[in-house]
Amino acid sequence: MAKKQFKAESRRLLELMINSIYTNKEIFLRELISNASDALDKRYYEGLTDKSKNVAKKDLWIKIYLDKDARTMVIEDTGIGMDADELEKNLGTIARSGSAEFRQALEKDTSKIDIIGQFGVGFYSAFMVSKKVTVDSRSAGGDQAFRWVSTGEDGYTISPIEKESIGTTITLELKDDTEDEKYSDYLDEWTVKNLVKKYSDYVRYPIKMDVTKSIPDPTDENKTIDTKEEETLNSMIPLWKKNKSKITEEDYNEFYKGKFSDWENPQKVIHYNVEGNISYTALLYIPSKTPFNFYNTEYESGIQLYSKGVFILDNAKDLLPDCYRFVKGLVDSDDLSLNISREILQQDRQVKALAKSIDKKITKALEDMRDKEREEYEKFFENFGLNLKYSIYKSYGMEKEKLQDLLLFRSSKEGKYVTLKEYRERMAEGQNEIYYACGATTEDIEKLPALSRVKEKGYEILYFTDSIDEFMIKMMMNYDEKMFRSVTEANLDLDSEDEKKAREATALENKDLLEAMKNALGTKITDVRISSRLSDDPVCLVADQGMSIEMEKVLSQDPMNRGMKASKILEINPKHAIFAKLKDVFTANPDVLKEYADVLYDQALLIEGLPLEDPAAYARRIVDLMVNAAVPAAEKKDSEPVEAEIVE
Ligand code: ADP
Repeated sequence: MAKKQFKAESRRLLELMINSIYTNKEIFLRELISNASDALDKRYYEGLTDKSKNVAKKDLWIKIYLDKDARTMVIEDTGIGMDADELEKNLGTIARSGSAEFRQALEKDTSKIDIIGQFGVGFYSAFMVSKKVTVDSRSAGGDQAFRWVSTGEDGYTISPIEKESIGTTITLELKDDTEDEKYSDYLDEWTVKNLVKKYSDYVRYPIKMDVTKSIPDPTDENKTIDTKEEETLNSMIPLWKKNKSKITEEDYNEFYKGKFSDWENPQKVIHYNVEGNISYTALLYIPSKTPFNFYNTEYESGIQLYSKGVFILDNAKDLLPDCYRFVKGLVDSDDLSLNISREILQQDRQVKALAKSIDKKITKALEDMRDKEREEYEKFFENFGLNLKYSIYKSYGMEKEKLQDLLLFRSSKEGKYVTLKEYRERMAEGQNEIYYACGATTEDIEKLPALSRVKEKGYEILYFTDSIDEFMIKMMMNYDEKMFRSVTEANLDLDSEDEKKAREATALENKDLLEAMKNALGTKITDVRISSRLSDDPVCLVADQGMSIEMEKVLSQDPMNRGMKASKILEINPKHAIFAKLKDVFTANPDVLKEYADVLYDQALLIEGLPLEDPAAYARRIVDLMVNAAVPAAEKKDSEPVEAEIVE
C-alpha cells in the first residue's frame, strides 16, 4: 500500500505535536470529542433536511474504550463519517487554517507553543500523546469504509476496510511513558471521566464509557467482583441553556477554547436571553487577541446558529454585523425553522430581527465596558478598534451613530486615550473645531511643527495614528456638530485680529520674496505663505483644499493611486532666523534664493515623512551651503531668532 506524505505545513505541525513540550496535552481528548460532536451534528442535520437519511437521536453517540494491555484509547462516534477523499483532504492537510500564515508563524518560532492554539489544529493534537493513530470511517453517503493510519512524520496510508456502521472510530496507540509524562494516565477510567467532565460536559450527545463497578460476589458475600457498566459521562446540557448562576468563569472559558479553537481565555463573555418577538439565547465572546488572520480574506466571521438546541449553521455571517465580526459565539432560537439554509438566512425576516437584536446587545456590552472597565476596553480597542474604524469608513458613515462613541484616540492631553465625547466635553473656551494631527506614531506626531501653535492656544489635539483615521472622519463629517480640522490644513484660522494684521503686514512687506520663492518652486507648491502656526521650526507644508498630506502618504502606497498628490503650500516662520537670511539672500543674489527654496521645501517634505523627489540633489545643495557658509563665532547659537548675523 503506497504511503502518502503529508503536505509540508502539516508535517511541520506534526513534528510540533509529536515533540510537543506543551504541558496541557490532555486537551487532545477535548479536540477529538469536539470533532465527533460536530460530525454527529452534521449527520443529525442531514437527517432533518433529507428524510431518506433520517436518524434517531438515540443512535447518535460517542463512546470511549480504554485498553490497558494494548495501551489504546478508542473514540467511536456515529457521526457523518468520511470517505477516502475526505480522509485524504481532512487529515492529510491542514485544510482549515491559512496554510501560508501558518508556515510563516512556524518559521518564526517553532518552540512557541501558542502557535498550536492560534491555528486550532484539532485532530493533530492526537499526536501529542500517541505514537500511532488509526481512523476507521464510513461516510453516511457511501457503502465502503476506509482506514487512515499514521505513525506521524513518515506519512499515512488509506485503505478500504469492512465497517458495518456509519461513523468514525479513532484508535490512539499511546506513547510510552517517560519520566516527565505518564501517557498511561489516559488509560485510567477516573482520569478520562474527569477530562470529559472538565472539557466536554456540555456536548449534546452522550459520551459513554464502560466503567468498572464493584458488586458483591454472589458466591462469597465478603468479597466483591468487578464488572463493567456503561455510563454516560457528560450532563449533555448545553452551557448556554444552563442557569447563569450555575456557570463559573472557568466553564465559560473552557467552552470557548474548546469550541472556537482559541488557546487563550476570551476577554469578555456576553451571555443573555431574550424573550419577545423573537426569543433566543446568545453566548458571545470577544477574543483577548486579534486572530492572526483577522484582516485576511481567510478569516471566517459569523456565529453559530442553533434552533431548539440543534446545530444548524456555522459561521452565519448574516447574524453578525461586519463591525463586530471579531465576535465568536452562538445563538439558539426556538423561533427559527430547522430547515433554514444560508440562502434563506439572508432574506428571512426573523433572522433580520435576530441580527438586529444581537447587534444592539454587542453595542451595549461594549458601551458598558467602555464606561465601567476602561482599562479592559482600551485593551479591546487595541485589538479590534481598527475594525470599527473601517466599518465607519466602508459604510460611508452609515454606522457612524452606532460606532462613533466607541472610538478611542490618543491625544495631546497626557497621551491617554480619549473618546470623542470626552474631547467634546472638555473643549476649550472659544474652540469651535476638533483638531487632529496625523502620523505613524504618537512620537512622530509630537514632532510635527504645526502642532505647537494649536497647543499654545490650549486646544487638545487628537492623534491619528492609523492610516484609516483621516479617511474615516471624512465620512463622519462632524461629531456632535463640531467639524474635524487637521492642524496641517492651510486655512487653519487660529490668529487673533492683531496677529492676523501683523501676519498680513509681514506678507505684504515681503511680497516679492514670497513671489520669488513661489516661482522658484514652480508646480511643486500652490503658494508660499507667512506662517502663524510655527514656533521653532523654519518651515512646514500644509495642504490646500481637498486631499491632505497624510492621505497622499497613504494613497502613495497603493499602486492604483500613486499619482495622487495633495496640493501643498509652503509656510515660512517669520520669527525664525532663516527668514531674515532669505530676505538678505533675495536682496544680495536672487539666483541663490532658488537653492534655499529647494532645500527648505525638501526639508518640509522630510519633516512630513514624505519622500524627496531628488535626494541626491538635496544632498548636494546641503553640502554646497555648508561649504559656502562662514562658521559663526563660537558663542553664537544658530537657532537664535531674527537678530542672527547674516553671513555671505
Ligand atoms: P477542525 O478544527 O476543522 O475540526 P481538525 O483537524 O480537527 O480540524 O479536523 C479536520 C476535519 O476532519 C474536520 O473539519 C472534519 O471535517 C474531519 N473530521 C475530523 N474528525 C472527524 C470525525 N470524528 N468524524 C467526521 N469528520 C471528522
